[in-house]
Amino acid sequence: MIIQLQQGIPTELKEAILKEVKQVGFNANEVKTQEAHYIVGIGKKDFDIRTLGQLPGVADIHRVSDEYKLISRKWRVNPTLIDLGDDVVIGEGNFSIMAGPCSIESERQIELVVEHLKANNVKIMRGGVFKPRSSPYAFRGMGLEGLRMFHQLCSENGIKIITEVMQVSQIEDMVDYVDVFQVGARNSQNFNLLDALGEAQKPVLLKRGISGTLEELLQAAEYIFSNGNEKIMLCERGIRSYENAYRNVLDLNAVPVLKAKTHLPVIVDPSHGIGLRDYVEPMSLAAVMAGADGVIYETHQKPEEAFSDGQQTVNFQESERLIKRMRQAFALRESF
Ligand code: PEP
Ligand code: MN
Repeated sequence: MIIQLQQGIPTELKEAILKEVKQVGFNANEVKTQEAHYIVGIGKKDFDIRTLGQLPGVADIHRVSDEYKLISRKWRVNPTLIDLGDDVVIGEGNFSIMAGPCSIESERQIELVVEHLKANNVKIMRGGVFKPRSSPYAFRGMGLEGLRMFHQLCSENGIKIITEVMQVSQIEDMVDYVDVFQVGARNSQNFNLLDALGEAQKPVLLKRGISGTLEELLQAAEYIFSNGNEKIMLCERGIRSYENAYRNVLDLNAVPVLKAKTHLPVIVDPSHGIGLRDYVEPMSLAAVMAGADGVIYETHQKPEEAFSDGQQTVNFQESERLIKRMRQAFALRESF
């Protein structure tokens, strides 16, 4: 059950509600986010919800049978919209395009990507400065120095930044330079990181784990929300299977299913999802039609020279065509 408390509820009233929740046999968890104040009751006992609903200080009360509560669409039917400022809003009704290199490599590279994005009216640039790499000898990113440069060039050009955070200790140093924190597939169930991002308050794009179920992804998002941050989007980026004709299997089933289960925006990453640049476009268009609220993909001025993930990275010409086609596909979807 979720109880939304009235704004600025006096402590005595809140204590009385907490006591009553325990009285009906539920474990009570207090959650305070940037938007509101809630009590999440965990339990199975049957009781008359009106006994709690009528208590002073209760703004709203709902039963939620899902294991995850605050991110459930059973509780909140209206979709979550994430406002990054300057009219950049992610969520249902909009189609957000986030593009950029796998890794931030140089000042020149950022300038070229920014120019490409601006020419195509794309408002969000991706790019990793802390890279989770399978080999410890591979390029692991430019770190904070790269992030400061990334931020400087993007903010001068009205572009928002999404970049991966790999560990709790990086959050404080990164927070002023990012618009969206990305949690990578390998960290999808790093619960300490998720807790800390709940407190960090900046929007989070949470990727599905390499072999993660949707239930695990949803529960991971619940960690962030229940630690105080409602600004979360989920990202399908392909799952591991026995098939080795491509890097991963982009699970587009996840899109309509997640959209039904949660009010959070759902984003698709076709680059990591299939891992081969020639197929990024068809899978992106399929993602639009499946109902995605946005796509995040990799582009680079010379993909064959990229420091990481070049094989799945499209060049600017391909990227431009992709952007146009995704927008056409979205307009078609909206017309249904
Ligand atoms: C990335 O976005 O470059 C990345 C490493 O993604 P993932 O965590 O999905 O592998
Ligand atoms: Mn990558």
